[in-house]
Amino acid sequence: MSRSEALFQAAQLHIPGGVNSPVRAFKGVGGTPLFFKHASGAYLFDEDDQRYVDYVGSWGPMILGHRAPAVIDAIRAALDHGTGFGAPTAIEIDMADKVCALMPSIEMVRMVSSGTEATMSAIRLARGYTGRDKIVKFEGCYHGHSDSLLVKAGSGALTLGEPNSPGVPAALAEHTITLNYNDIDSVREAFATVGDQVACIIVEPVAGNMNCIAPLPGFLEGLREVCDQYGSVLIFDEVMTGFRVALGGAQAYFGVKPDLTTLGKVIGGGLPVGAFGGKREIMHHIAPLGPVYQAGTLSGNPLAMAAGLAMLNAISVPGFHEQLSAKTELLTEGLEAVALGHRLPFTTSRVGGMFGLFFTEQDEVTSFAQTMQCDAAKFGRFFHGMLAEGVYLAPSAFEAGFMSAAHTQQDIEFTLAAADRVFASL
Ligand code: PMP
Repeated sequence: MSRSEALFQAAQLHIPGGVNSPVRAFKGVGGTPLFFKHASGAYLFDEDDQRYVDYVGSWGPMILGHRAPAVIDAIRAALDHGTGFGAPTAIEIDMADKVCALMPSIEMVRMVSSGTEATMSAIRLARGYTGRDKIVKFEGCYHGHSDSLLVKAGSGALTLGEPNSPGVPAALAEHTITLNYNDIDSVREAFATVGDQVACIIVEPVAGNMNCIAPLPGFLEGLREVCDQYGSVLIFDEVMTGFRVALGGAQAYFGVKPDLTTLGKVIGGGLPVGAFGGKREIMHHIAPLGPVYQAGTLSGNPLAMAAGLAMLNAISVPGFHEQLSAKTELLTEGLEAVALGHRLPFTTSRVGGMFGLFFTEQDEVTSFAQTMQCDAAKFGRFFHGMLAEGVYLAPSAFEAGFMSAAHTQQDIEFTLAAADRVFASL
């Protein structure tokens, strides 16, 4: 028995399913999850001392690779001053200034401790600001696990085949209208009947929780128009895309300005951080300025702020995202070429430093329905083949992959050579 297998057995005694977040349990691909001991740059090392080229990057935050010196040094320096005060600190101002500078649609920002908190708070704010209850989301998009948003959700909920969760009161879920991603006509139709009751549209500007699906031209622009027409708040959930697809996030990449933005992952430098922000006029409704309540004991935690700010500064260098995109392209184009050599029905997607892998006959995947037609069983075999070769992909056919600055051309070539052997065995 490997050490990971032994640890997984031990973990199940006091931890539900042996994991603290469901997708980690390998339910989507079968088998035993690996337990990791340490990481460095593009590599993860498991408890059995096996090395893996990592394309999960802690589900997105590790855009610089693991243990990036700039981030580690900042955390060490902050540690010497104390781990938290539950009171204002100067670094929170630096963080807010930096976020607002990088994403000009954000005029004020509130720090929280997870992406879930960011989206939950943003929709409460949108509801409080508009005085409306209904929200619009898209099937297969995941915005964390707050009650209103855990309806037809993606990511782990989709992987486990439970996009709706027991425990979400029907009375609450009925306020969540779920439409088709990339289908602007469905949005216009829904708004024609209930538009004046809709507080907000929340959308992943690049969907990353039903594999990786880019917005079709006109989709995000259409959402902007509809929100303007009906006085609804447009929320871009950039927890995944923020600072990753471009320094200014998907809103910079596609040139569409939301009213509110939610952030997570990269903004915390690997520590637990989220944020939501946007128009000053809307943010003025949040406590203590306004009546919409939101708070957090650990919000703006100095260690987390130090890590996140160091990360944002490090990725602000010219050319960073161009290089990240070029590497992602090298990987996805390379995988397509290798698959073609084996006449395997396979395609990829990519936006900046995130990508998707699809086992499908379709040339391009642009909708939830299409992503559901992909061969998840084949992905599972591919996943385990790659794992045996020393490549760690997200353990689900419905998750995006992430490139980091630490990945080298050799790492990508290593991955392509591994894929060549694994594709041959499929
Ligand atoms: N929104 C999006 C787009 C996400 O991808 C995620 C997590 N993968 C969340 C929200 C929730 O973030 P967290 O897991 O930090 O609560």
